[in-house]
Amino acid sequence: VFSQIAKAPEDPILGVTVAFNKDSDTSKLNLGVGAYRTEEGKPLVLNVVKQAEQKLVNNPSRIKEYLPIVGLADFNKGSAKLIFGADSPAIQENRVTTVQCLSGTGSLRVGGEFLARHYHEKTIYIPNPTWGNHPKIFTFAGLSVKTYRYYDPTTRGLDFKGLLEDLGNAPSGAIVLLHACAHNPTGVDPTIQQWEEIRQLIRSKALLPFFDSAYQGFASGSLDADAKPVRLFVADGGECFTAQSFAKNMGLYAERVGALSIVCKTSDVASRVESQLKLVIRPMYSSPPLHGASIVSTILNDSDLYNEWTLELKAMADRIISMRTQLLETLKAKGTPGDWTHIIKQIGMFTFTGLNAEQVAFMTKEYHIYMTSDGRISMAGLSSKTIPHLADAMHAAVTT
Ligand code: PMP
Repeated sequence: VFSQIAKAPEDPILGVTVAFNKDSDTSKLNLGVGAYRTEEGKPLVLNVVKQAEQKLVNNPSRIKEYLPIVGLADFNKGSAKLIFGADSPAIQENRVTTVQCLSGTGSLRVGGEFLARHYHEKTIYIPNPTWGNHPKIFTFAGLSVKTYRYYDPTTRGLDFKGLLEDLGNAPSGAIVLLHACAHNPTGVDPTIQQWEEIRQLIRSKALLPFFDSAYQGFASGSLDADAKPVRLFVADGGECFTAQSFAKNMGLYAERVGALSIVCKTSDVASRVESQLKLVIRPMYSSPPLHGASIVSTILNDSDLYNEWTLELKAMADRIISMRTQLLETLKAKGTPGDWTHIIKQIGMFTFTGLNAEQVAFMTKEYHIYMTSDGRISMAGLSSKTIPHLADAMHAAVTT
């Protein structure tokens, strides 16, 4: 019955790794996927994660019963505190409902489906550009996707004027997707003053903010600093959606652990919202998995582990920042034409190099360097040893 089925294209981001794996050249470099690597180019399991797993395994009363539909209660409480702040009035007033979901992607999808069912405005505005999965997630959730201007290729920075114009022209009530920090793919974030202007515009037009927080702690190295934009919105008492992922900041990629939090006006509304979220989740995957959420909950609710985590997180963020300066210095030393200072101005896991699809294809063919065709490179995939090779390739790409 499926003899006529068409072959689907590879995912544009995950497809980069497929192509990389097929390449037998020893100098090959995968800068496509957004996963942290050590200076030796190895995946990293955080020490605190190992300790938490040990604690879990040693617990004699450990069971594997189903979790509730909304997930592990201590995980949910800890996740909300992490993003909104331990002293958040919204949490104290019980106006937040948090449900454990399948990482950031699952949290966005559940939030999207809830909105498609229960919110009067079905259009979501996402930045242009954005993470490639966003339009698909929200379209399949049943929302209609439009974009707002975000990135200015000439300055390789924020198109703040375009952003304000586009959100200003959005219909009242429209949903707005915002990257909480470390915008993917551009690495360009608004300043805190710009966030405040965005907040005022969003509130004045009764738009609904939906934060995607996939990199808390990765942008600046500080969990609190990276949560500031979200907290600015929650502090004004208005509604706000937040999808959190623990893939990057705890290195729990494959555990698929994340949370959707909806800040409501009253605790009564929050509990009714939660009852409806259960109806979204139950027929989708019934209830979430236990292991990853137990790890996160153990770390968030143990002050020693939590403190150690902040140090490990800072070390990852600092290594990425040092890759930025090293790459810029190497390009400068080679005399590579052009202004490359955006490499150190952009933040988070990625640099949006400004290289075009043709230059990317050249670097893959001639230098075995793999990245998405939009010129985005994962700084976390670089090391002091591989930077010269990347700089050679970039130099050749812009001079030949
Ligand atoms: N949002 C953004 C902006 C991302 O970059 C990612 C991961 N690449 C995610 C959400 C979701 O990731 P995950 O489902 O692995 O948590």
